[in-house]
Amino acid sequence: MKINDETIRAHAIKNAISHKGKAIAGPVIAALFNEGLKKSDIKKYSKIIFPIIKEVNKLSLDQQKKEFQNFEKKISKRKIRVGLPELPNVKKSGVVMRIAPSASGPLHIGHAIIAGLNILYVKKYKGKFYVRIEDTNPENIDPKSYKIIKEDVKWLYNKSKILIQSERLDLYYKYAEKLIKKEKAYICTCDANKFREYSHKKENCPCRKLKVQENLDKWRKMLDKKTYKPGEAVLRFKSSMKSKNPAMRDFPLARINETPHPLQKKKYRVWPLMNLSVSIDDIELKMTHVIRGKDHKDNAKRQELIYSALGKKYPVSLFIGKIHFKGMSLSTREMREGINSGKYKAWDDKKLPTLISLRKQGYKAEAFLKFAEKISLGENDKIIPKKEYFTLLNSFNKKSLKKN
Ligand SMILES: [Zn+2]
Repeated sequence: MKINDETIRAHAIKNAISHKGKAIAGPVIAALFNEGLKKSDIKKYSKIIFPIIKEVNKLSLDQQKKEFQNFEKKISKRKIRVGLPELPNVKKSGVVMRIAPSASGPLHIGHAIIAGLNILYVKKYKGKFYVRIEDTNPENIDPKSYKIIKEDVKWLYNKSKILIQSERLDLYYKYAEKLIKKEKAYICTCDANKFREYSHKKENCPCRKLKVQENLDKWRKMLDKKTYKPGEAVLRFKSSMKSKNPAMRDFPLARINETPHPLQKKKYRVWPLMNLSVSIDDIELKMTHVIRGKDHKDNAKRQELIYSALGKKYPVSLFIGKIHFKGMSLSTREMREGINSGKYKAWDDKKLPTLISLRKQGYKAEAFLKFAEKISLGENDKIIPKKEYFTLLNSFNKKSLKKN
């Protein structure tokens, strides 16, 4: 709780009532320590505290008692709101929310925070929780992760609805054509370095002038194997090349990648990039609220542009700050390298902070949800040392073990 005039006055009045109408500074300040007042701040606050005590002491005991009743009413109202803050714009029909983990590895304790927040809100407001496995980059997929992620999320919340992006390519293609027809996307055949130069100079690349039909022809040529090699053509969003933020300048939507896909093999060669597939899925699934790390702010802005190009209303966007788990690496790449080099046995190795490992060690899903609630929404970055993380997780786990 923040120390403000109201908090100080409430404690002064409470103290006055127990001292026949005259508050004493010492115990009032002691009570404010419990509210978060720091010793180093006493000097600053005493200029506020003493005049408030003086004012309160001028009131009659009856006046003090009356005012105290009002404070109590306020406090009891505040107490109803334990747990997570309310989400804005929740409709009667509830919320539709999602997480979108990449198929590069199983879920870890970092994923569990975002997943946990989503699950808690879906339970609170009733609604749907989608888990969309992002596997549209054939170069960054661990085939084993599909099965593990499915088990991870069903374990966290048994009503999770699971989708796999590589099974939805025809849908992405349909929307890509839609964007081209609306003159919101074009095929760029510039060399990557050349395009970077245009972007740097805030100039349009020559491909930007192509007519709809020319773009559609080139798009179809991207899909067949005869014309373009990987890297020779990309689908770009027509935002603006003059945007102040370079990340917003005609960003790419789809590219050619012929690396065989673990599920789709060689069926497709044009793959959507994250901002295209995420926007389309969120539109199709009627997402209402999206929680993501604040490092995705530029992506959220890109997706908002795609939404508006398609005439759709963007969901409520909420961000959480970066959480640094000190003493534990959550890098999927590092974990995989450790498995390959024999440092770890597999994804469920006891030393790894993956959910599959912790699940096997006897942790309950509820402990992770409690932890997510503790972190809550908020854009401040946090550092959580390994020891502190496990102390807290263990205490939540003990409570949930007792309940079951
Ligand atoms: Zn171009």
